[in-house]
Amino acid sequence: MAELKYSKDGRLLFTKEMKKNYTLLAPMMLPIHFGLIQTAFGLGGYKVEILDTTGHEVVNEGLRSVHNDSCYPAILVVGQLINAVKSGKYDTDQIGLLITQTGGGCRASNYIHLLRKGLLRAGYTHIPVVSLNLSGLEKNPGFKLTIPLLIRLILSVIYGDILMLLANQCRPYEVAKGEADRLVQVWSKRLADEFKSPSALSRKRIKNNLTQIVRDFAKIQRIKEPKIRVGVVGEIYVKYSPLGNNGLEEFLQNEGAEVVVPGLLDFLIFKTDNRAVDVELYGGNPLKRILANGLAGYMKSLQKAMIEAIEENSDFRPPATFDHIKSLVKGYVGYGNKMGEGWLLTGEMLELIESGAPNIVCTQPFGCLPNHIAGKGMLRKIKDLNPEANIVAIDYDPGATKINQENRIKLMLANARKAAEAARTEKKGEKQAPATPSAHS
Ligand code: SF4
Repeated sequence: MAELKYSKDGRLLFTKEMKKNYTLLAPMMLPIHFGLIQTAFGLGGYKVEILDTTGHEVVNEGLRSVHNDSCYPAILVVGQLINAVKSGKYDTDQIGLLITQTGGGCRASNYIHLLRKGLLRAGYTHIPVVSLNLSGLEKNPGFKLTIPLLIRLILSVIYGDILMLLANQCRPYEVAKGEADRLVQVWSKRLADEFKSPSALSRKRIKNNLTQIVRDFAKIQRIKEPKIRVGVVGEIYVKYSPLGNNGLEEFLQNEGAEVVVPGLLDFLIFKTDNRAVDVELYGGNPLKRILANGLAGYMKSLQKAMIEAIEENSDFRPPATFDHIKSLVKGYVGYGNKMGEGWLLTGEMLELIESGAPNIVCTQPFGCLPNHIAGKGMLRKIKDLNPEANIVAIDYDPGATKINQENRIKLMLANARKAAEAARTEKKGEKQAPATPSAHS
């Protein structure tokens, strides 16, 4: 075990010595993205292992370690990490735990303290906990977000987003089942290998990769049968994590739907953009605004490159730009509403409706006030102004049964099928109706 060192306020530090020998365990959220993120950290000199554990033992460990009125994602994230520590699979003298801190006013900034409390209770106070954040919170001598590492992390998100988006648009229609998933594997490996080269960070290479990915997916033979498109939105962890949402995507696919999941890049841009919005709304250091706009601008330029690659090389539907989603929420919710997913959650629902996917599952974790305001709380207004919206808010918590959740989603799907059938009948009727005789005939 490395020598233990503490900060002035008594926090156990992750030291340079630990960086050489320790493995950092991190919770899973999005399998495609997090595989690349693990590689990016590896190239930054860190041994990171993303945990893929699921099941009741993770939830139960979370409930043992965290007070049960904490939000559900906190219970799952802390539960997964402490479950791994106790599993016997790791030498607890050679591991640290890696967890994000969003730096906003939400509890996601404080999961780290819940995790330390859980470690204390379980008797593992010698395990360092490292905060991954962009706000300058909790510094550690052995952990630094360098520019190349930050760029690789952003690239992991953009590549993860495009692979997730294209695979979702192929899976329900592919003639040879499993082809989209196979391509995801092939590209994930290729991108991870390529990350090693410094040219992987060049804009030219990124654009080439995006184009090539789209062309490869466009070659998948697909049937032209209309399917119900279902958007999935909500609190970031339960929206993406199969552990958090009881395998929602798989369930929707098995029900014959095409799943539409907004990308992670929008959330990163949202969190960065909020720093600039803070200065605009409340004042503060203008330099902070310039830096935030610079980083958000870089991510937006990559998003634009992804959209262009899709538009120019395929018939897939590209995502909307972050700026467009931001423009949609005007008249619904203010930009100061930024705890949790804030206005972005409302914006994602509006964008789905606008792009022809008005059938939406809004995932709501137990204990999450921000998402009850920007998600469930906005449904009345969204439905009033967009009558075609068919949104169901589903609660996720340790006691919620999968069967109840699925039954409510099935009801939403039945309404979606009815609406699709009515639209088809109306279209047929229009075609068969005799042409109105002209005044001159
Ligand atoms: S957004 Fe909701 S679930 Fe996420 S940290 Fe905040 S309160 Fe918890």
